[in-house]
Amino acid sequence: MLIGVPKEIKNHEYRIGLSPASVHELVKNGHQVMVENNGGAAIGFDNTQYEAAGAEIIDDAKAIFDRADMIVKVKEPQPQECEMLRPGQLLFTYLHLAPDPTQTELLIKSGASCVAYETVTDNNGGLPLLAPMSEVAGRMSIQAGAHHLEKAQGGSGVLLGGVPGVAPGKVTVIGGGVVGTHAAEMAVGLGADVTILDRSLPRLRQLDEQFKGRAKCVYSTSHAIEACVTDADLVIGAVLIPGAAAPKLLTRDMLPKMRPGSVVADVAIDQGGCFETSKATTHAEPTYVVDGVVHYCVANMPGGVARTSTLALNNATLPFALALANKGLKQALADDAHLRNGLNVYSGMVTCEAVCDALGYDY
Ligand code: NAD
Repeated sequence: MLIGVPKEIKNHEYRIGLSPASVHELVKNGHQVMVENNGGAAIGFDNTQYEAAGAEIIDDAKAIFDRADMIVKVKEPQPQECEMLRPGQLLFTYLHLAPDPTQTELLIKSGASCVAYETVTDNNGGLPLLAPMSEVAGRMSIQAGAHHLEKAQGGSGVLLGGVPGVAPGKVTVIGGGVVGTHAAEMAVGLGADVTILDRSLPRLRQLDEQFKGRAKCVYSTSHAIEACVTDADLVIGAVLIPGAAAPKLLTRDMLPKMRPGSVVADVAIDQGGCFETSKATTHAEPTYVVDGVVHYCVANMPGGVARTSTLALNNATLPFALALANKGLKQALADDAHLRNGLNVYSGMVTCEAVCDALGYDY
């Protein structure tokens, strides 16, 4: 199969669909890969690495879209990319179509078949191509929080790990799923005093087993949240109710009870945020202050560490990209119900139930 990897064109997107190692794997499996000139240069994957892996470097995206059987990307195609897709072509990338009727219409019109990373499933009821980005965001939330606790960043001047003779900072993580667990791991690693709240008892049991006393695992009630939040130096918002907006668990009246300069990082901001005072921010201007509390609410955290995110994403997407390339779309989907769940658009039809429900198409 001829596979095309265009450079991402969304503002400040530095990730790329295939790393040189993934290209090498696909080429070893008998495929040809075209990578756009300097497609990965911003994150240290230069043309020579792609060429060494067996890719052909192509000057412009148009030539890639014209020739490729399968396009592998990271972000949803922008309108000018949708225009270049053609019937029979396969697109493998994040799409997030449910809130995006314009992109959905463009993909229908293109006649291409589109497999969305975010709806591919696994045997445990998880979303294996979303999980790596949650891992990245969870780990990064502690790094960002620790940075913004510094005095010069507007923080309270607390070092999360403390030092011998000085107590560590307190970290409260609301939601103990993928984001929350990875945030807690990082905070524990720094030596902070960590509490994780979740409303699922089975999940709390797993966390208790995993952390073995290095983090406190507390059942999430509004009372427990208030007690933990108002005592924390850093709060991480990491809840998810699938298919719903995030519940507002940290309310405005709690802020004046926190120590001035404490930091709240709302990772769930991409689902509307789980703090009442959250509004989405960017890497360029990541924080703002409400009632003396520093808010960090960056909606695309993984983009800030684009190199690590590209590698983590490729670890998860490569087996599926290989299956699609080796077997072709129809056979790959027939063989794997989880990959089939990723199919969102097929030859001009929307084929994902949740997207149909959200946008009013017949399923
Ligand atoms: P997940 O499903 O793995 O975990 C969510 C957890 O929240 C579950 O354990 C659930 O039991 C818990 N929960 C639900 N309601 C709760 C409540 N009232 N109190 C306490 N816990 C509660 O989800 P995840 O992958 O960890 O993602 C968490 C959020 O982070 C999602 O909104 C996701 O979209 C977002 N996210 C954001 C970024 C970013 O860049 N900002 C990146 C990745 C993920």
